[in-house]
Amino acid sequence: MFAQDDIDRLKEKETAHDNCLTCHGRDNTCQSFKDVIWETRKIAANIKIKYRDYTLDGLKDVPKGLKKDIQHYLDDLAQKKKKGAGLLLLGNPGTAKSSIAYIVLMAAIKLDYTVYATSISDYMKIIGNSIHGDTQEMENAKDKLYEISKVDFLLLDDIGREFRDKYGFIDATIMEIIRSRADDNLPTIITTNSISEQDFSKNDLRLASIIKEQYTPFKFSGPDYRNKIAKVVRAEYEEKNKENTTETPQ
Ligand SMILES: [Zn+2]
Repeated sequence: MFAQDDIDRLKEKETAHDNCLTCHGRDNTCQSFKDVIWETRKIAANIKIKYRDYTLDGLKDVPKGLKKDIQHYLDDLAQKKKKGAGLLLLGNPGTAKSSIAYIVLMAAIKLDYTVYATSISDYMKIIGNSIHGDTQEMENAKDKLYEISKVDFLLLDDIGREFRDKYGFIDATIMEIIRSRADDNLPTIITTNSISEQDFSKNDLRLASIIKEQYTPFKFSGPDYRNKIAKVVRAEYEEKNKENTTETPQ
């Protein structure tokens, strides 16, 4: 699963295998060193701590049919990479969109693909740093942007409705990364609180055609969403009761 040259590269860097408590660097097939590399790769790909041990099987509250469809995508990851076939994960906050997205990224890491995860707010920060800041900071940010545009699988987490202008057009910087990766046939995984692919790409014919041609949409609803409805219903009920009890005859 791990290429020998990756192990060699890491060996030269901070994770010197010589320090390995299990084999002191003597065993090339050493499992604890492989574990270190696995963790190192997840950190390098910016996989958030919360998601690092997530598995598809371990996810509760995700419908079986949806899990099956995601599993099909994972089973076919090499083909998806070749075709630049991305995922558009739609739904309200608190559903399992991000969990699924990170699970897909980790599957790609296991297959030796280059991977990077970024939320839109982090991405905008990098854009900002690439425009102003000290020279070194700008250089680093530019390198990062280049890396992000070229990784095999990229996660753009949480493209919210706030990234649309008053006419409903999606922010030009985000549109640019989606478009350039589509042109390069590189798969991108997008999570968004939009309710449908039409809603996500409304007012933007180019985005609509990219989504239609290269992305598979999945709609999520989850317990948080239902809880929210329950809360609204309860609040309305309580509000009504309050009205009834405070109505005092004149
Ligand atoms: Zn070892």
